[in-house]
Amino acid sequence: MEKQSIILVRYGEISLKGLNRHVFIDLLVKNIRNTLKHIDDVSVRKIQGRIIVTLPADKAEAAAEMLTRVFGIVSISIAAVVPSEMAAIEEAVLVEARRHPFDTFRVSAKRGNKKFPMKSPDIARHLGGTVLKNIPGKKVKMQGADLDIWVEVRDETYVYSKFIPCRGGLPVGSSGKGVLLLSGGIDSPVAGYMMAKRGIRPVCVYFHSFPYTSDRAKEKVIDLAKILSRYTGRIDLYVIPFTDIQTKIVRECPERQTTIIIRRFMMRIAERIASMTGAGSLMTGESLGQVASQTQEGLAATNAVVSKPVLRPLIGMDKQEIVKIAEDIGTFETSILPYEDCCTIFVPKHPETKPKLAFVERGEAPMMADAEAMITQAVEDAEIVRL
Ligand code: ATP
Ligand code: MG
Repeated sequence: MEKQSIILVRYGEISLKGLNRHVFIDLLVKNIRNTLKHIDDVSVRKIQGRIIVTLPADKAEAAAEMLTRVFGIVSISIAAVVPSEMAAIEEAVLVEARRHPFDTFRVSAKRGNKKFPMKSPDIARHLGGTVLKNIPGKKVKMQGADLDIWVEVRDETYVYSKFIPCRGGLPVGSSGKGVLLLSGGIDSPVAGYMMAKRGIRPVCVYFHSFPYTSDRAKEKVIDLAKILSRYTGRIDLYVIPFTDIQTKIVRECPERQTTIIIRRFMMRIAERIASMTGAGSLMTGESLGQVASQTQEGLAATNAVVSKPVLRPLIGMDKQEIVKIAEDIGTFETSILPYEDCCTIFVPKHPETKPKLAFVERGEAPMMADAEAMITQAVEDAEIVRL
């Protein structure tokens, strides 16, 4: 048989408060299985307080790298797995020790299997002795040792020395679905990432104004959704043909208000998609004061046309902070590619920065006779890209 390793998966206990523990863990198991589905011979199972992934040893590094992007996981360790018999455990501890350069070390043991004849401190002491006897010139150090070897004795025994920190958060799906308004910019992919971290599975909507926005702009949004899906699992991206609505707004509404009215139509359509897909919220990459439509008045004017909550995780963040996350999650390079998602003909020279709702409604009036039909048409004509 091929050599097996395990990946020991730790999840946050604190984040379980107020949530159904079993639902949380089962969902995490499912998300882990999905993430690793392209690796052969993987099995994922729950044990007391942990999730265990068993897989061929030569696949462990790659799998661990993928798991660092699964929300709900606090840390992981790649471990050797051996029968819970002292001779086998000693051997595994020596193998682990010899893999690392070190002068000082400690062995920590945890006995989960009460049938095992030694208690945790005795196991640790015994195995420390094994290292001292077999690898000359080493010293035990209880605090700040070069090498910390961990031994968990359960039905089988796990031996490891490295903790790989992960992203925490809640398993994607544990908070339901939400519609992410995904543009080609820096902000909205970050917003989607942050809400996915709180357990929301995103359904993405992109408003495409062909030919004012090119097909390359659309490809860029598809690429961003693909990167996001490395954290969220499968994503459906709705590409909404938006040209007719957008040009009609520019033609018939007051210039100063076009941006805010365009945004109101985006929200209406996004809410339609939310209802169709069972999503409980809308999510945007807005940040207070970043542009004219992202003032308190602007947000009020866009909120006014929808009844689902609009989640704006970047609302209090500076661009610099947003860029840092975009770089960390791998969307930045794609976001800054130069295919703009918004043609200059749609951007007013002097946009209203404090749009009063009553004025916006008046300015929008020429749209309203056809609004319902245009929205329905746009939703019907949406292209769904499955990632
Ligand atoms: P981003 O960097 O995400 O493009 P932005 O700072 O450019 O954001 P705006 O263009 O004002 O800001 O858009 C604000 C939010 O509206 C975006 O974060 C996104 O959620 C949504 N949005 C804007 N344009 C589109 C579009 N073409 N398709 C889908 N959503 C959009
Ligand atoms: Mg934008």
